[in-house]
Amino acid sequence: MTALQQKTTPQNKQAYLLRNEEGECYIINKQVIKILADAASTGNLFSLVQITGSKGEASPLHVHDQQHESIYVIDGLLELTINNEIHTLASGDYAHLPAGTVHQYKTLRNRTRFYSFSTDGSMADMYRNIADPYAYTVPHSEAADSITAAALHDLDHDYRIVTDPPQGLIAAKQITAAELPDAAVPYVVESGAGESMLAADQLFTFLATQATTDKKYLAVMTEGYAGEAVPVHHHEKHTECFLCLEGKMTMWADGEEFHLEKGDFLHVPAHIEHSFRLDVHHTKFIGFLASGLFEKFFRLLGEPYEHSELPKTPGAFSFQRVLENIHELDLKLS
Ligand code: FE
Repeated sequence: MTALQQKTTPQNKQAYLLRNEEGECYIINKQVIKILADAASTGNLFSLVQITGSKGEASPLHVHDQQHESIYVIDGLLELTINNEIHTLASGDYAHLPAGTVHQYKTLRNRTRFYSFSTDGSMADMYRNIADPYAYTVPHSEAADSITAAALHDLDHDYRIVTDPPQGLIAAKQITAAELPDAAVPYVVESGAGESMLAADQLFTFLATQATTDKKYLAVMTEGYAGEAVPVHHHEKHTECFLCLEGKMTMWADGEEFHLEKGDFLHVPAHIEHSFRLDVHHTKFIGFLASGLFEKFFRLLGEPYEHSELPKTPGAFSFQRVLENIHELDLKLS
C-alpha cells in the first residue's frame, strides 16, 4: 500500500487513491452507496458516489436546487425519470441533470451499478446521514431499512422531494452524435456519443462542458491505445480525478506510482504533480475536472472527431498549439 492509498476518503483535501474494493459504504433497502469523494476530500468541490442496486430499487422523485449532477452507468439497466419523461440507460450511457431538474432512478436489472457525480460535495454527507454503514459494495439478500419520504423531507440537504412535478419542464435531449447542448439543460448521452476530440491515438469525449455545467466542471471520457506517458505537469486552479473504467493504466501523483484497473479512483487536487500512461489498448477512464476551465486544452491538443471508435491510424497531435497558448491554460509542465 502506498502513502496516498486510503481505505476511505481522507478528512482533508489531498491527493488520494481509492481501490475498487475499498471505500466507505452505506446501505438503503437493497442498494449500496460507496463514497469515492466528498466535501472534505475535495474542499467542497464535488462528491462522487457509486451506487449498486438489486433489481427494482429506486430513489424518490426529487430535485436539487443548487447542485448539478452527472450519472454514468457501468452495469445493468437504469430507468431515469427526467422532468416527466422516462429514459432507459445501459452501460456507458450518461445523464446530465443540472440544478432544477426533477429526477428519479430505478434499477431494472439485478446489480445495476452507476456513478453519481454532483457539485459542492454535500451529497456524500447526505447519504451518511440517511443510510446505515455497510461492509460491502454489493447489497445482500435482505433489505436494510429504507428511508421514508418524511425523513428525507426533514433533511437539511439540497435534496427536495417532489410529489407533484410542475408542467413545462425542459425535456432531456437525446444525444446520439458528436454534439452536446450549449447550455445547462438536461440531456442523455448514448454510449459512444458526446463531443469528441482526437489527439494522436487518444480520444477525448466531452460528456459535460463549461457550457452545460455553468463552468463548474467537465466530464471527459478518455480512451486510447497503449502508449507513452503524458508529460509530468500540475494545475494551479483545478482538481482532476481519474476513474478507470476498462483496461490498465499507470499513474504518477505526488511522486508515487500506481497501477489502476477498473473501478480504481485517483483524486489529484491543484498543485499536485501528476502524469498517466495507458498500458493496454482500449484503456478507458472518465475524468471529472473542477472547475471546467481546462476545456480549451483538449480543443487545442486534438481535432474534432465524428466516430465512436478509435482510429486505425493516429490523428493530429497539436502539442505545439498547446505550448503556444499555455499562458491561457491552467497547465504547468515540470
Ligand atoms: Fe492533469
